[in-house]
Amino acid sequence: MALPKVYAGQRCSLSRTLEIVGERWTLLILRDAFFGVRRFGDFVAHLGVPRAVLTERLEALRDADVLAEVRGTHGYREYVLTDKGLGLWPVVRDLLSWGDEHYSPQGARRVFQHVEDSGLLMPDGLCGVCRALVDPSELAVLPGPGYDEAGDDVVSQALLGAHRLLEPVRGR
Ligand SMILES: [Zn+2]
Repeated sequence: MALPKVYAGQRCSLSRTLEIVGERWTLLILRDAFFGVRRFGDFVAHLGVPRAVLTERLEALRDADVLAEVRGTHGYREYVLTDKGLGLWPVVRDLLSWGDEHYSPQGARRVFQHVEDSGLLMPDGLCGVCRALVDPSELAVLPGPGYDEAGDDVVSQALLGAHRLLEPVRGR
């Protein structure tokens, strides 16, 4: 039997947060949204997430006002991060960094670079050059020394080089 979604007596903000982002796939969907993935089919191709699960997660994130559904070019339904969703960037960044530290012996799989001064983001989340806390819109993602992904989907291809966060992986 599935666990209840809302745990009686747990009023902590962490438990409220986990109701939104604590499910398997959800943080991966959000990570990809920061990478500029917007279309249903592109999430499927890049993550390998089952379509029914993705439908459910996207609806939940939309209902929570973390993602907004918009009409993209050529009439495609697209999902973009809201301001509320953008506020999850430090969480995604720190979990990636923690995973690299403990589970990626070859080094970070992806690195983030402050576009303005080419400084790499350090494990503390600050730019290694200017020491600023950089907004995700001012960052690019690049393959790092531990990069081992070789997918031929449009997302993997777009992320082979430097790709500015939040910019659509598909050209406009
Ligand atoms: Zn910088």
